[in-house]
Amino acid sequence: MEKPKAFVDKEKCLACGGCISICPQDAITTCSTKAVVNKEKCIDCSICIQTCPIGAIKSEVY
Ligand code: SF4
Ligand code: SF4
Repeated sequence: MEKPKAFVDKEKCLACGGCISICPQDAITTCSTKAVVNKEKCIDCSICIQTCPIGAIKSEVY
């Protein structure tokens, strides 16, 4: 079974950059001004989920 990974809702993301700077795995980058999680790097620590001011990041099983 696949492990859950963080996932950014691109409709909600404001590209504030908060999750990008806090990710310990450097797993988040921007793509077309929206945050994107590299699921190969993500360890589902949920720090970004707690950091996002608008709740745009969730944890999902891919
Ligand atoms: S869950 Fe943790 S490792 Fe994964 S993208 Fe968010 S901060 Fe980075
Ligand atoms: S913290 Fe939330 S709003 Fe800010 S860039 Fe990350 S996903 Fe987007």
